[in-house]
Amino acid sequence: MELQDVELTYPGPPPVHALHPCALTVRQGEYVTVVGPSGSGKSTFLNVTGLLDRPTSGRYLLDGIDTGDLGDGDLTSLRGRRIGFVFQSFHLLPHRTALENVALAMTYTALPDSARRARSALEQVGLAHRVNALPTRLSGGERQRVAIARALVGQPSLLLCDEPTGNLDSATAETVLALIDQLHADGITIVLITHDPQVAARGQRTLSIRDGILTEGTS
Ligand code: ADP
Ligand code: MG
Repeated sequence: MELQDVELTYPGPPPVHALHPCALTVRQGEYVTVVGPSGSGKSTFLNVTGLLDRPTSGRYLLDGIDTGDLGDGDLTSLRGRRIGFVFQSFHLLPHRTALENVALAMTYTALPDSARRARSALEQVGLAHRVNALPTRLSGGERQRVAIARALVGQPSLLLCDEPTGNLDSATAETVLALIDQLHADGITIVLITHDPQVAARGQRTLSIRDGILTEGTS
């Protein structure tokens, strides 16, 4: 991903400069963590890099594609093919099984064989034996692994994680972080947001964000 003077201001009133103009290049296969306090702009950064929000100004290139040139439909399909999301609170549909939750995400990918792919994504996260379970029957760690399977089912090149261990105890968090390490080893680019310095240290490279200003390193 390449950000050139990318900036996001929420119009308000009053306008909120949630992300000040920033320049950043993340190479395929990198594991980048972004650390910053609550309200510093971490989710805004993730929403922009995840093509959920368009920058107010600047250019954002993903795999060499200038996303500013794309209409909403093309943007959605690029997101579906390239990007997987993992959130703090899992966002699973409560009345759907693990398999259904993962298969439904394929709606946005235009790939065939959704049930088979969903099953294989659940195998990849170690949940082959839980495919028919409802989220309420799963532990927090299992739920997050279903959410990761859902993020992986479209075979993204980029995984964006917003506080993925924020709702987990430390032992469970470790299993989720180990899984993310494995996905990185498999070649997926990881951008992981956290306010926990210990979690941030697992990346190859850490960025800090404070009051919407993104800087290289921990500060
Ligand atoms: P973080 O994820 O680090 O907690 P956010 O990116 O969610 O921070 O928010 C950054 C700033 O932008 C905060 O001041 C927040 O209140 C503000 N903000 C977030 N979303 C909106 C929005 N939709 N409209 C206006 N302000 C927003
Ligand atoms: Mg946030």
